[in-house]
Amino acid sequence: MESQDITTLAEARKYLQENRGKGVVCPCCRRFTKIYQRRIYAGMAEFLQWIVKAYSEKKDVGAYIDITTGPNQRGGDFAKLAHWGLIERKAIAKGNEKLQRWWRPTLKGIEFVEDKVRVPEYALVCGSELVGFSDETVSIRDCLQGGEGARSE
Ligand SMILES: [Zn+2]
Repeated sequence: MESQDITTLAEARKYLQENRGKGVVCPCCRRFTKIYQRRIYAGMAEFLQWIVKAYSEKKDVGAYIDITTGPNQRGGDFAKLAHWGLIERKAIAKGNEKLQRWWRPTLKGIEFVEDKVRVPEYALVCGSELVGFSDETVSIRDCLQGGEGARSE
């Protein structure tokens, strides 16, 4: 398949698999660009375990957790857990960066930590925008065993 023939996400995904690391036509912005395959590496899975534990200890339904009290997060990669719908950030007014540290796990995030659900192995991301998922799925155990590894391919 040639990149100029790509019109759907499924085609983009196929092309991406065949041409790892090369550019593709992004289904969200139509530019020839690089779509990154993000995966949940061990450090992110450990962060998710931490925030689920902190959340369960709050006994306060809907509480948000101050993530600066948790394990160090390299480059804010934990925020990418939101691509899988595993965590959510407290809604903030634009420019109010101080509040960006308040997050909580979603029900899906809690169930993932409890090893009740699986999530796609890869989130396909253009810039900061989610454009799709891999068909392959992983469990929290897979992610915890995945090491730090590559942040993207
Ligand atoms: Zn795009």
